[in-house]
Amino acid sequence: MKTPVKSLMTGSPIAIDADTSALAGLDLMIEHGFRHLPVTNADRRVVGVVSLEDLRAAFPIPVSLRRPPSAEQRAELRDLPIAEVMSYAPQTVTAEVALEDAVRQLAEQRIGCLPVVDGDGRLEGIFTESDALQALATVLFTDEVRERRAGGAAAPGPGDLVARLRDEHARLAAKLQGYERHEQDLTALRREIPLDIPEQASDVTEAGLTEGLADLAAKRLHDLEHALERAEEGSLEICEGCGGAIAPGRLRVLPGTTVCVDCARESEAR
Ligand SMILES: [Zn+2]
Repeated sequence: MKTPVKSLMTGSPIAIDADTSALAGLDLMIEHGFRHLPVTNADRRVVGVVSLEDLRAAFPIPVSLRRPPSAEQRAELRDLPIAEVMSYAPQTVTAEVALEDAVRQLAEQRIGCLPVVDGDGRLEGIFTESDALQALATVLFTDEVRERRAGGAAAPGPGDLVARLRDEHARLAAKLQGYERHEQDLTALRREIPLDIPEQASDVTEAGLTEGLADLAAKRLHDLEHALERAEEGSLEICEGCGGAIAPGRLRVLPGTTVCVDCARESEAR
């Protein structure tokens, strides 16, 4: 049986009302570190989605999850409702949809999240590009375990960090190549069907606004490359902040990091 999207979605997600201010939406995103919020009506039916990118495009101030707007900026933004900046009637999935279909939908439509709804369109969960990346990682590691079993080799221990990073790098590079080939096919198809100028413009804007799954995978690939380079130099597990050790488990999850968890916490707090 195929894994359903509910296995990786966030259940009972925080949603926002369409008549709330967009500023309140930004506050929620900053508070929880979310890049997307489903917008619901009084029945908790999904009527839209608002993303951090939407707010970036709409607000006349720099928008960041790290820095809340100042009091003056807040005064400037107070009257803009969510309904004016959200995407209406977003694509949704039900909780039983196969995970791989949801991932494909995110990647192909270049959208950042899929609200998960019940049969009446009521919000049950949200599945985002970060969840999709996690799904991708799970698939990669499951392949890895299966291949090792088939080959009779033992699963790598924590001491095999570099071997595991190298493995993940090879797998991810192969997957990305496949994805890019598919993208090129799509681009070629688009060229054959000429769009008029406004349509082309919105096409470009949308592609630029959404941090697609492939972009995230490419970033991860870059992090892995960086980690492998530092492993060659013998500096992979040395914290750039305090000179202490970076735990292998941390590097496994965040191969791009160059600081230990204590130093990372300190710089977050600053
Ligand atoms: Zn440190």
